[in-house]
Amino acid sequence: MQIEVVTIGDELLLGFTIDTNGAWLARELAQHGITVVRRTSVADQADAIASGVGDALERTGAVITTGGLGPTSDDLTKPSIARLFGREMHIDDAVVESLHRRWKALGRSGDLPRSNLQQALIPDRAIVLPNAHGTAPGIWLDDARGRFVAMLPGVPREMRGLFTEQLLPRMLQRLAGAPTVVRSLTVRTTGIAESVLSDRILAIEGLELEGLDLAYLPGWEGVDLRLTARGLSAEEADARLARVAAVLRAAAGEHVYGTGTDDLAGVVLAALRAAGERIAVAESCTGGLLGARLTAIPGASDVMLGGIIAYHNEVKASALGVCRETLEAHGAVSQETARAMATGVRAALGASVGVAITGIAGPGGGTPDKPVGTVCIAADIEGAVQSFRAILIGDRHEVRQRSAQSALSLVRRMLLGTA
Ligand code: AMP
Ligand code: MG
Repeated sequence: MQIEVVTIGDELLLGFTIDTNGAWLARELAQHGITVVRRTSVADQADAIASGVGDALERTGAVITTGGLGPTSDDLTKPSIARLFGREMHIDDAVVESLHRRWKALGRSGDLPRSNLQQALIPDRAIVLPNAHGTAPGIWLDDARGRFVAMLPGVPREMRGLFTEQLLPRMLQRLAGAPTVVRSLTVRTTGIAESVLSDRILAIEGLELEGLDLAYLPGWEGVDLRLTARGLSAEEADARLARVAAVLRAAAGEHVYGTGTDDLAGVVLAALRAAGERIAVAESCTGGLLGARLTAIPGASDVMLGGIIAYHNEVKASALGVCRETLEAHGAVSQETARAMATGVRAALGASVGVAITGIAGPGGGTPDKPVGTVCIAADIEGAVQSFRAILIGDRHEVRQRSAQSALSLVRRMLLGTA
């Protein structure tokens, strides 16, 4: 089945709101073998909605919209689409009743605002999709040719609930008997350039992707390898994904840290826990990002002791015990300083593992010797210290993110013995 998604709202076109609804729907639908072939965003204007939805309906006969179902004057989805289907609208008593119930249940005082009654206006011969998460019900409209438009609210939480509970079961009923799925599996790598990874994969003798699509997705966390199976039964898709992923994992070797949505900070915490280690962090240019990554993982407290943000050289010396001679001779951004910071924070906080980051995140502060993006990272695991220097790409935000990720990666590889 092919479908189009039309997201409705001025805020989407003005760029104030990112169309996360469209992205989420595409991912969910793919899980069930339904392909989104086009996504359109239109303004809160009757003509724009009617032409956006009308064109999409002509192409695929299957459309999901989000947004514009609220109680205010900018919510025009229903009347525009009702007109497209040549339907009048009527007040639906059951919806009125549920709006009153919800108003009372939420303990609101006074009567239901008249504006809310607009949400009980339903196109004739439409199916109401009850909304357990908010006031605006979803609406399903069919025409005589079997084409349909399903309208969902714009608020992401409500949209997701209604889709999963009401719309998806209806769509699956329509598809009953359709045997195939679209399914993806992601292998997550870090610390290896996309091109190097590609060379390694292309060098695999007799490489057989078994008809799966392979996408390289680089970002500050590393390069994700995403395999996608289409047009197969669920069992066959899973089997092929597992087989090909194993081949990719072998090619990427020590750079693979997980699959799916695994987070490197979580992976490192688990490895530290298994090894009985406790970690402390010393951060200069990342200003606490590494600590934030580690503490974002629930249950981190048995492994993560704490950290010191040593931004100023004075603090590197006073709080971490970095020698002033080291700072003077090699500079704050040097492997020598990073190593002293890692050992210093380990001692200061009584940890078995100390990790340190010092670098030039930019945009200013670079020199020919140490350009913007230069970072020095060190880890001290029970007295064994390793460090490296790298030039990371991107703006200040990205250099800082990449620095924290690289530090996590160093700890992980030291624990594995592959650093
Ligand atoms: P609406 O149902 O049009 O009143 O939308 C309510 C709110 O949902 C808006 O203020 C946006 O914050 C949010 N929203 C609407 N459409 C989207 C979308 N496509 N993606 C993410 N958020 C959205
Ligand atoms: Mg809106």
